[in-house]
Amino acid sequence: MSQTLQAIRGMNDILPADAEVWEQFEETIRDWLRAYGYRPIRMPIVEPTGLFHRAIGEVTDIVEKEMYSFADALNGEQLTLRPEGTASCVRAAIQHNLLYEGPKRLWYMGPMFRHERPQKGRYRQFHQVGVEAMGFSGPDIDAEHIAMCARLWDDLGLQGVRLEINSLGLSEERACHRADLIAYFSDHAALLDADAQRRLHTNPLRILDTKNPAMQDLVSGAPQLLDYLGEESLKHFEGVQQLLKDVAIPYRINPRLVRGLDYYNCTVFEWVTDQLGAQGTVCAGGRYDGLLEQLGGRPAPACGFAMGIERLLVLWKDQGHRHETPAPDAYLVHQGEAAGRFAFRVAEHLRSSGYAVQLHCSGGSFKSQMKKADASGAPLALIVGDDETAANAVSVKQLRESAASTTPPVSQVRVNFDELADHLGEVLFSTEDNHGNL
Ligand code: ATP
Ligand code: MG
Repeated sequence: MSQTLQAIRGMNDILPADAEVWEQFEETIRDWLRAYGYRPIRMPIVEPTGLFHRAIGEVTDIVEKEMYSFADALNGEQLTLRPEGTASCVRAAIQHNLLYEGPKRLWYMGPMFRHERPQKGRYRQFHQVGVEAMGFSGPDIDAEHIAMCARLWDDLGLQGVRLEINSLGLSEERACHRADLIAYFSDHAALLDADAQRRLHTNPLRILDTKNPAMQDLVSGAPQLLDYLGEESLKHFEGVQQLLKDVAIPYRINPRLVRGLDYYNCTVFEWVTDQLGAQGTVCAGGRYDGLLEQLGGRPAPACGFAMGIERLLVLWKDQGHRHETPAPDAYLVHQGEAAGRFAFRVAEHLRSSGYAVQLHCSGGSFKSQMKKADASGAPLALIVGDDETAANAVSVKQLRESAASTTPPVSQVRVNFDELADHLGEVLFSTEDNHGNL
């Protein structure tokens, strides 16, 4: 017996009812990004493995254990399914010299791949919307990114998404903190778990990001990076906070927020909810002033963020939001061979005039076809039988009462082919309130 083929664990099909929600979300996203002047960019899904090693850092969860990497079967080149978008976006900016005429505001959306243990809100193929601003150094762009997120939650009607911010300072400041951190953790070496022991001398900052409950007390007592910030870093961080206050965006400073990727400096932030269990971070980002140079480009400051679409949409649904399936303007039923050919032509003609028409296919009695017409949610059924075909006409039946009109709908009228498009316009206009669209 042949085994049923299944999708790969942690990689999901998004079925029509959900895919329509995704489309609606994507429309919201495009309008929102346009309002802030961001332009789209699309990068490949597969990149040379080395890009992520150089950008994300060797001693990170992603590079150590989450990447889908493989050798190209034809030429042996080491390739990786992108685990995030910033590295690719920066690579593209450098490769195409995108900053030659000044700073750039960019965004992208698409699948990312991480070999994690699948659970609610954590998948092996998941999707992000990413926003990157390159060439900007002031705190205004960091604050713009945060304000953008706040506005999106509002546009989507999401409640209870909290903002946490921190500053990672400059690399010299992190170096002093790092030395003290290593000393502190070395003094408590017996309390470190295996990950932390391994990271003690390679990436001690990441120990602060541990999800191990047994290490929380130890981590709470560790030296705080904020105490090591110099004048310039503090001024930048205060600048961000001032702008957030100016537009009334509440935030909490979380000194343990260090982010899981090495490329960040200065401002980092996360948007968190308590409503998604352990997978509570819906969006995260910050400044990465060193990354362009680190990847071989001309030095340029930059910052960005990425949000997890699956987590946002689960939250959106859990908060009671619903999406209505868009209905066609008309459902076209027909019977007989000549009528079938005429109906096909009628449907194409109406689509050319801008209507959404669902043509009944694969036969059945008029009665069963009319049931389908009703179930489609269309306000109109178009009926084509032998009589209509002979008369070059279509019978138009209103399936729903118009909310706008006080008179009951005329049950059925026959309309000549040439007048059909105009007629539909008149009828649909008066039934618009009753329309099942978004
Ligand atoms: P987490 O701490 O939950 O693993 P992360 O810090 O690894 O998140 P980022 O690399 O900052 O995540 O990615 C930005 C956003 O992408 C996250 O806040 C989250 O919403 C989403 N995300 C990350 N990994 C996954 C995943 N495996 N499945 C679904 N969404 C994810
Ligand atoms: Mg992660």
